Amino acid sequence: MADPSPSRSFELHAEDGAARAGVLRTAHGEVRTPVFMPVGTKAAVKTLHPDEVRALGAQIVLANTYHLHFRPGEELVRELGGLHRFMAWDGPILTDSGGFQVFSLRDTIVRVDDDAVAFRSVYDGSEARFTPELAAGVQASLGSDIAMCLDQVPAAGVSRRVLEEAVRRTTLWAERQRDLPRAPGQLRFGITQGGTDPELRRRSTEEIVELGFDGNAIGGLAIGEDRDLMFETTDAAAALLPADRPRYFMGIGDPEGILEVIEAGIDMFDCVLPTRTARTGSALTPAGRLNLRNARFARDERPLDETCDCPACERFSRAYIRHLVNQDELLALRLLSLHNLRFLVSLTDGARDAIERGAFAGYKRDRLERLKCPDS
Ligand SMILES: [Zn+2]
Repeated sequence: MADPSPSRSFELHAEDGAARAGVLRTAHGEVRTPVFMPVGTKAAVKTLHPDEVRALGAQIVLANTYHLHFRPGEELVRELGGLHRFMAWDGPILTDSGGFQVFSLRDTIVRVDDDAVAFRSVYDGSEARFTPELAAGVQASLGSDIAMCLDQVPAAGVSRRVLEEAVRRTTLWAERQRDLPRAPGQLRFGITQGGTDPELRRRSTEEIVELGFDGNAIGGLAIGEDRDLMFETTDAAAALLPADRPRYFMGIGDPEGILEVIEAGIDMFDCVLPTRTARTGSALTPAGRLNLRNARFARDERPLDETCDCPACERFSRAYIRHLVNQDELLALRLLSLHNLRFLVSLTDGARDAIERGAFAGYKRDRLERLKCPDS
């Protein structure tokens, strides 16, 4: 199957300031943007059935190349009909390249050179190597709809020299990965680096854009740098990305962050936040986070969020969910995951509606004001 051309795979429907609403067409269906992508690290959104993920309004899920390469291995997944069939999710899937995992597990890195990054696997400590060729091959075998380029992700606060080296190597690896074989219909996105250094971010963006990927991602942010500087960098970087292709901010999912990157003109973002927050016994609400361990919820008969239509809020009280959290009942994880994911999907749907009405600035202001005034 021929790869869809970029102009056919992404279409903008509305613009409101720099914010955009559009449709991304993939081999497994359309994705309306802006879109929040839940993370299914090991081919599962933790504790949730794929039908539940779909019913919450999620349109596309992310799966993790690093983890699936080691367990169960991409060849096994390919043999069993590819990742969609394996995890019984027939909608769009984006796979990352493994670059973020390799470089964030810093202690496991053995060496990095222009050919590859060598590291010790977190599963059994054996030495492994990731190259652009391997990243492309794993993602082709998995058969995801969107494959990402292997990038070098430096930690926040490294020297300019280290940052510059990562920019150079990320471009070199993107050039190598660009024309390698893909799964049928698979789109391929480039990733920019450069931290919050304006000149290096610009250089990386121009070099990656020049390679003509189906979409472009902003990588190497939301890793602990100053938040205002991160948003400033995102504004500038998004403006340098071509308007006719999707723009993906990697790894943001807090409500304020989502609204900020949408305002900057970002179309896609992902985060483990909804399920990770669930594991801490907390719920995301329009007025901020609720920590269900707090004694004030012991007799609270209200749902987690009175405005929410998720399966947790439809039937269960804060008092009951607090009890489940305190007793480490598995149902607590499921109910909080269902709710938190629904919350971020609704927040993003609301942003898309607002952009289509030309009312995004007001929507953002209103949502941020409510977040700052906890009322429960
Ligand atoms: Zn809910």
